[in-house]
Amino acid sequence: MAFDLIVRNATLPDSRPGLDIAVEGDRIAAIAPSIEAEAGRIIDAQGYLVAPPFVDCHFHMDATLSLGLPRMNQSGTLLEGIALWGELKPLLTHEAVIERALRYCDLAVSQGLLAVRSHVDVCDDRLLAVEALVEVREKVKPYVDLQLVAFPQDGYYRSPTAAKNLERALDMGVDVVGGIPHFERTMADGAASVRALCEIAAERGLMVDLHCDESDDPMSRHIETLAAETQRLGLHGRVAGSHLTSMHSMDNYYVSKLLPLMQEAGVAAIANPLINITLQGRHDTYPRRRGLTRIPEMRALGIPVALGQDCCMDPWYGLGQADMLDVANMAVHAVPMTSREAIRWSFDAVTTVPARILGLENYGLAPGRNADFVLLQASDPIEAVRMRAARLAVVRRGKVIAEAPPRLTRLDIAGRPSTLDPASYRPHAPH
Ligand SMILES: [Zn+2]
Repeated sequence: MAFDLIVRNATLPDSRPGLDIAVEGDRIAAIAPSIEAEAGRIIDAQGYLVAPPFVDCHFHMDATLSLGLPRMNQSGTLLEGIALWGELKPLLTHEAVIERALRYCDLAVSQGLLAVRSHVDVCDDRLLAVEALVEVREKVKPYVDLQLVAFPQDGYYRSPTAAKNLERALDMGVDVVGGIPHFERTMADGAASVRALCEIAAERGLMVDLHCDESDDPMSRHIETLAAETQRLGLHGRVAGSHLTSMHSMDNYYVSKLLPLMQEAGVAAIANPLINITLQGRHDTYPRRRGLTRIPEMRALGIPVALGQDCCMDPWYGLGQADMLDVANMAVHAVPMTSREAIRWSFDAVTTVPARILGLENYGLAPGRNADFVLLQASDPIEAVRMRAARLAVVRRGKVIAEAPPRLTRLDIAGRPSTLDPASYRPHAPH
């Protein structure tokens, strides 16, 4: 018996240690201790964690890596970011959008990030970014699953051509219906846009992912309309509300009614901690709100919650490195949620939960599934989140597509070890 690839002595995310993962073609053939077989290639995991690839369920690939074009965001606010993007939009070229997206995907692969849901702005009548990202989606298919959301950045009603452009983008093959109700001129327009967008999705049989209530306004309540429309149109399991930052500032009594509505409608929540913690609370003096949505409360009700990156070096966020462990780590701090159970969950929130929201097929570590996984320099998911662990190998459909040496430091201190492995620092009790 010979396999194409065997990873030996891996620890799985569910903590099972000492397992071999055998790959045949593009699928996982077996997961068991000490698989007696030859293989075209053998990777020694040395007891480290092998996890399914990271999934980013909220991103903007048309804007990524544009930081500094045409200038920096001085105020650091969402609104200046939108204005800055408006300045950049007419200057975009097809080639430049493709080149930045491809460069970003290289970075993503190096971080074990192999599936991305990207919003794409449809408020440029040329639909240049849509055309470019549809092309990128095909180009990167062998190594990244790219799902596109038709996103009317300047408002479905507020921008005069957005409604028409959104339909055009969907006709061009964009996968998901997007929106931005809190950016419409009035709350009523926002609610009307949620209804219109959900109806389009119902007619076309598509998923919905709206930028929803991305503000500190406790009265911004479009998520309520989104849950109600999901219920009315029978879109259960196909709808996500992104950001939901206003929920941070809402009245507790109101939230106690809202969350069961979301749960009943099967609406998922996508929080973007790197962006929420930096863009929200900007009108506050002190105390300054964190702006992150109510993750523990939603989890307690069984509402699917995933964590997205949103931005990487663009008009809204000058940092980022396609590192979903950074995103999980920030969520743990900003919520805060420091129990072992919650930190462990934050790993799922950047892997299995968003994979379900995207509807990825054959995702996960099990025989018969796609041979897609990441070898991390960490003993378990919590340690991976703590260290934002190095990605030692990234496998896509059975092929190693990225490799990096372990992070080791040579020390020269009298009487102390000569090599430092950060992954050798572990808690005395794992759980
Ligand atoms: Zn976004």
